[in-house]
Amino acid sequence: MMPDKNGYFGKYGGVFVPETLMPALEELKKEFFLAIKDKSFKSELKRHLTEFAGRPTELYYAEKLTKYLKGPKIYLKREDMTHTGSHKINNCIGQALMAVRMGKKRIIAETGAGQHGVATATVAAKFGLKCDVFMGEEDCKRQALNVYRMKLLGTNVISVSSGTKTLKDALNEAMRDWVSNVDNTYYMLGTVAGPHPYPLMVRHFQKVIGEEARRQILLKEGRLPNYIIACVGGGSNAIGIFYPFFKDNCVRFIGVEAGGVNMISTMHSASITAGTPGVLHGSYTYLLQDSDGQVLKTHSVAAGLDYPAVGPEHSYYKDIGRAEYIPVMDIDALKAYDLLSKIEGIIPALESSHAIAYVIKNSRKFKKSDLLLVNLSGRGDKDVGRLL
Ligand SMILES: *Cc1c(COP(=O)(O)O)cnc(C)c1O
Repeated sequence: MMPDKNGYFGKYGGVFVPETLMPALEELKKEFFLAIKDKSFKSELKRHLTEFAGRPTELYYAEKLTKYLKGPKIYLKREDMTHTGSHKINNCIGQALMAVRMGKKRIIAETGAGQHGVATATVAAKFGLKCDVFMGEEDCKRQALNVYRMKLLGTNVISVSSGTKTLKDALNEAMRDWVSNVDNTYYMLGTVAGPHPYPLMVRHFQKVIGEEARRQILLKEGRLPNYIIACVGGGSNAIGIFYPFFKDNCVRFIGVEAGGVNMISTMHSASITAGTPGVLHGSYTYLLQDSDGQVLKTHSVAAGLDYPAVGPEHSYYKDIGRAEYIPVMDIDALKAYDLLSKIEGIIPALESSHAIAYVIKNSRKFKKSDLLLVNLSGRGDKDVGRLL
């Protein structure tokens, strides 16, 4: 389904930004609709996804996990096998091509743990764009290796010392920069959140995951999966694998949120399960806020899921019942991380481990004849350091 012309999925989405950014978003929207109809844009995108990102990624039958759980048949979509090790590269290649097409010489981005920052720095190097990444001072300390990677790739990392010195402050700084430099600067958003057209555009660049998986499962099994399971931070890997199956009503979608330490405190990031609708980062969507509308501090062992809101399309799927959203706790994600490593020889990202954990915990609730498609959004090499 497409959002309406103002960028609403049902009542979610829209454009809640300062007036000064409206022309930039209008320009981006116009160029995006032209680009996706442009044959040469399409073929360039396809070429870079193949030659640089390593697509298509494998659809892997997790035979040992399937046997171990004695439950449904489990397939993993191997986004961990892409260049830079997660699905984020799909979106960054697409948006870098947008920046080039629009004649912008500089890109900026915000990053929390640094994964989107590294993917952005990677495409900036490849496409010869100047790049500034905003990162909270706290995050810079916690993720020193990613700061080093970005610098090595030629990106300037701007440490943000306002507020809580984390992702949301980095995002505010990036927005401020964009307001004053819209003429030469392209803003590269990392997930299906933010003001229209970002949720639509990022979905467009991530739906390659689901399009490939749909073809692959039909080839291997001759039928569609019964369930698709993906972790949800901002929601881009989940929308990427769900969306091409949207009209297949027999396929059920399960979005796994970060249940953190527990759901009683605020030590989690389960925006849909525990949130209420409000406006954050330019769009109306479910978010974690107190009764005064103050955004709550969040937590997840998986940095990529540690975000207080979710893309508006997920809020819509939740309300119409197209997808279910369920929290999984840190401790269960860590167990899944360990189990998949030992049993399949695949070290999953802690984010992706949430989706695996959901399958492990619920293996008895599925039928043995069920076919499960799980999005393995990224590899876990990045996580080994902090768990030592
Ligand atoms: C960033 C990230 C996520 C979370 O982001 P989404 O937009 O929800 O996909 C999940 N998995 C990995 C590996 C990530 O790097």
